[in-house]
Amino acid sequence: MTIDFHCHLDLYPDPRAVAEEANARKAAVLSVTTTPSAFRGTSALADELPFIRTALGLHPELAAEREHELPLFDELLGVTHFVGEVGLDGHSRFASSRAAQERVFDHVLKKCAHAGGRVISIHSRQAVARVIQSIARAGPIGAPVLHWFTGSLRHADAALEAGCWFSVGAAMLRSERGRLLVAHLPVDRVVTETDGPFTRIGDEVAHPWHAQEAALELGRLWQQSPDDATAQLRANLSALLVSVELGSRLA
Ligand code: MN
Repeated sequence: MTIDFHCHLDLYPDPRAVAEEANARKAAVLSVTTTPSAFRGTSALADELPFIRTALGLHPELAAEREHELPLFDELLGVTHFVGEVGLDGHSRFASSRAAQERVFDHVLKKCAHAGGRVISIHSRQAVARVIQSIARAGPIGAPVLHWFTGSLRHADAALEAGCWFSVGAAMLRSERGRLLVAHLPVDRVVTETDGPFTRIGDEVAHPWHAQEAALELGRLWQQSPDDATAQLRANLSALLVSVELGSRLA
């Protein structure tokens, strides 16, 4: 079983085909969305596909434009245990939306703390310190999962202290800095992701089943056989789900 704990199924040219193939290949997918209004349609892609869970998101890059969808976010939070993609983006390109990003993310965390038990896939590009601080202040929100985390080792320690998990993609493991960071993380706090269709594996757009690449890389880093690394990652996903009382398996 492959785990792709951060994938934008709805952004592939043929989303239903990707969802069906992922499910047939037993790739457990967290299908994240970027706006609350995309949630219902994206959830429908996974109808009768037990390996796929759909998350309710409001991407930081769209925070200013879609802040008016927060009432819809609140309404839909009652029908899913999975939230994402949410978070903050500190890139200068999004400087003008920083205040809106913070309002949206703080709102999301507050609602998740109130609801409890949510699995939350979180974007933190160039905003790691503020994201971790917000998570730590939010109280028991469930299982925050830092997606494509690029902070320092010190930031990683603070994130662990705040109860975070990490979803790691093959792209993170291509640089020496990324490998050092991932090697620093406890092996039992890590799951894999692709962030498809925004990443590539070789010449190909990454699809959920390509998360196996990250699993193999993690095995090398952990000095484990591919089978042992896969078993470790499955155990991690189970523990993550159990921590929010969702049973031990996605499917
Ligand atoms: Mn993403």
